[in-house]
Amino acid sequence: MSDASLSTLAAQLAAKQVSSRELAQVYLDRIAALNPAINAFITVDPDKTLLEAAGADVRIAAGNAGPLTGIPVAHKDIFCTDGWLTTCGSKMLSNFVAPYDATVIERFKAAGMPSLGKTNMDEFAMGSSNETSYFGAVKNPWNLAYVPGGSSGGAAACVAARMAPAATGTDTGGSIRQPAALTGITGLKPTYGLVSRYGMIAFASSLDQAGPMALSAEDCALLLNAMTGFDPRDSTSLEREKEDYTRDLEKPLAGLRVGLPREFFAEGLNNEVAAAVDAAVAELKKLGATPVEISLANSKLAIPVYYVLAPAEASSNLSRFDGVRYGYRAPDYANLDDMYCKTRAQGFGAEVKRRILIGAYVLSHGYYDAYYLQAQKIRRLIADDFSEAFKTCDVILGPTAPGTAFKLGEKSDDPVEMYLNDLYTIPANLAGLPGMSLPCGFDTKGLPIGLQLVGNYFSEAKMLNVAHQYQRATDWHAHAPEGLK
Ligand code: GLN
Repeated sequence: MSDASLSTLAAQLAAKQVSSRELAQVYLDRIAALNPAINAFITVDPDKTLLEAAGADVRIAAGNAGPLTGIPVAHKDIFCTDGWLTTCGSKMLSNFVAPYDATVIERFKAAGMPSLGKTNMDEFAMGSSNETSYFGAVKNPWNLAYVPGGSSGGAAACVAARMAPAATGTDTGGSIRQPAALTGITGLKPTYGLVSRYGMIAFASSLDQAGPMALSAEDCALLLNAMTGFDPRDSTSLEREKEDYTRDLEKPLAGLRVGLPREFFAEGLNNEVAAAVDAAVAELKKLGATPVEISLANSKLAIPVYYVLAPAEASSNLSRFDGVRYGYRAPDYANLDDMYCKTRAQGFGAEVKRRILIGAYVLSHGYYDAYYLQAQKIRRLIADDFSEAFKTCDVILGPTAPGTAFKLGEKSDDPVEMYLNDLYTIPANLAGLPGMSLPCGFDTKGLPIGLQLVGNYFSEAKMLNVAHQYQRATDWHAHAPEGLK
């Protein structure tokens, strides 16, 4: 049952073959058995989950069910969730019980999806390995000595280990796609502004976007249907008509032009990943697609640009954590200034402090023009490259990450080496474009390889169409890590 698609689960619920409570219990049992080794969840509260499931059962019995009613979902611990501990992976919020629901949470509740708990993540979503969490590293279900990717590593690992049929994630520079790639699941970062950021703890507001993580593109489409929509409480939320993201899933791919960015297949790309991506291109050709070579020349500047802009925004966003209003406060201090200093010194981990320092520096009077302003200009050039590319192709394809999962601890002492993981994912965030990752093979160590699709603005339905057709023709997404039963 834990391998079933969301539509299969919905059909079983509708046919009364299983109740929402029973279904939630299946996943809660797997969490109890597997989470101690994987550490994908920060908070699990079976009583709350089962209460929400009972509510879904009432709704199903009354004939009021939507397409996802009764199916449980796990939420990244970055979303404020009424009455639940919401930590953002940080000591700073280790005692914070949110007094309200983020819009994403509210929407999933409205869809009738019980929450399975809050998933582990890199502290304040800063990281690519899920090793910066105050609550300890998440382990990759395919091999517990390896990282699951980050920052939505808990979300990715819980879906990969079938501890949840679906999860929410957020992606500022790749945090949905990169962990999806490293754990062999499917994840989608929508066009910036499509999903409300209200109640989602801010990292870099101009880049942050929430999206679904699940076992297939079809499941992601159903979840995206529940997540999107205008929200007046988020000033960057887009006022657009609601779309049905499942509408194009079954379209044939004949005539599709797939752009292959020259720069994404160059130096730095692992050979096994390159081979798997090439095989995926060949598969899409069989399905009627035509590869087109494109160039994203400025994408080589994406990492330096991101590591100016994201820390700049983070340093401003994280100034609210001062020990006064909520979260952690240092126990001993001499005066107000001392309280601020000690609270922030003790409450934030090393990576978060590094970003705050960089951010404050690039925004400072003497360096603003040289760094921040310059980075904004290059951000525009990167977005312009994509606009140019989409004149000759319908969707862009490449690797999600330059390699497969790496060992726990392998890159934690070298921030730059860690940052390079997001080489291929960050450009889409800088441009505000939608992107997704789906499994396309395994390396010789048996670790999953991710294929990335980047679409033009609002082309989620097309990307999901491409991914779904690929998943109908292949079975990479159906593999489950062994030895976890
Ligand atoms: N790995 C990137 C970082 O550390 C992206 C994180 C994210 O997308 N939240 O900032």
